[in-house]
Amino acid sequence: MTLEWNGSPLPMDAYWMPFTANRQFKAAPRMLVSAQDMHFTDIDGRQILDGTAGLWCVNAGHNRPTITEAVQRQIATLDYAPPFQMGHPQAFIAADRLAKMAPAGLNRVFFTNSGSESADTALKIALGYHRMKGDHLRTKLIGRERGYHGVNFGGISVGGIAGNRKLFGNALAGVDHLSHTHDLARNAFSKGEPALGGEEMANAVEARITTLHDPSTIAAIIVEPVAGSTGVILPPKGYLKRLREICTKHGILLIFDEVITGFGRLGTAWGADKFDVVPDIITCAKGLSNGVIPMGAVIVKQEIHDAYMAASAENAIELPHGYTYSAHPVAAAAAVATLDLYQEEKLFERAAALESHWEAGVHSLKGLPHVKDLRNIGLVAGIELESAPGKVGKRAFEVYLKAWDKGVLIRTTGDIIALSPPLIINKEQIDQIFNVLADVLKTIE
Ligand code: PMP
Repeated sequence: MTLEWNGSPLPMDAYWMPFTANRQFKAAPRMLVSAQDMHFTDIDGRQILDGTAGLWCVNAGHNRPTITEAVQRQIATLDYAPPFQMGHPQAFIAADRLAKMAPAGLNRVFFTNSGSESADTALKIALGYHRMKGDHLRTKLIGRERGYHGVNFGGISVGGIAGNRKLFGNALAGVDHLSHTHDLARNAFSKGEPALGGEEMANAVEARITTLHDPSTIAAIIVEPVAGSTGVILPPKGYLKRLREICTKHGILLIFDEVITGFGRLGTAWGADKFDVVPDIITCAKGLSNGVIPMGAVIVKQEIHDAYMAASAENAIELPHGYTYSAHPVAAAAAVATLDLYQEEKLFERAAALESHWEAGVHSLKGLPHVKDLRNIGLVAGIELESAPGKVGKRAFEVYLKAWDKGVLIRTTGDIIALSPPLIINKEQIDQIFNVLADVLKTIE
């Protein structure tokens, strides 16, 4: 299909699109050309309500003037600065702001450019930490089935996505995976944290790490507080608290991948706050800069940072790791303006206040054709559909296309629909999302 853009045909062939059915897309493209607050505008001038905050990242809504202006000011002042062996003020301010927002004790910040880089950085920091302390046996990393920690080799190794094994093999050695916490037999149609099985699932973690491993060989366990990309899988009550106890007991670092759950998504600054569990390391990205400029970060407990300082000579580079664009000035300026906006507009509190309206909207879909489960927390929802026989993903994608036609952007993974709107959404817009979904679900084969 040929699209016109600025009076010329748009060249469609060269761009190999990420995580996209390229051939299908190019036959019938969905093209966005601008965005403001809760809406995208597509190439035909249609308004599309953003039910996914872009890709779980535009938490403050689109094209917010204070962020845009901070970015413009920064580009015009200091467009780039090498991050190795020198600094610029915005990097220090952004790190300080993030440290002050983080759970108590996590107050040292390493900047990356994405969630994937944050995951790999956190895993390296964890491995190096034990070695810095002279413990050379702790070399294993543990993730979870259905965990998603981005696309780099560390992240796909601890991640629990079978398709990655098929295509790329096992990247890192010494990795194991815990069971996921998705238990529809016990917890279908949960509102907020699922009630059942949390302690038991966490006890199975301890059984696994002590029967399959010597726990003193495990460096870190990495989990998403709520697994987002593989279908909004929530931790049953008590699971994360018990996981924290197990990690502490065995000297294992607990890493929370908060790339999705950070920055108000659950109605609190972090998933750690929502579940009242303090990990040793938090990874984040996305909402850190409102998706405007790529940026990620790894926030660590001071003692982890200090172990590196203590074990290194004063003139040594303590952590030989970093990116050309770590703490990029424009990204740092975007992050500072974003964190300011979250605070000024009390957007995390706003998300918390909207949670009950959101929850009612999500569960209003109960009983519609093919709806197998509905789950929600904060301003996130998972709508799981019964798959069509032999055609996993087909039904949800049909819902996606039909919702797009009706002006609402949703996201799908397999036959699960994930929703995560900007935190500036209002009640009418929430109702619009669920009314459109209800209409569409009634038409699905
Ligand atoms: N971790 C989690 C929990 C994520 O949800 C994602 C992205 N969806 C990533 C890591 C990877 O982030 P990025 O796409 O910015 O590399």
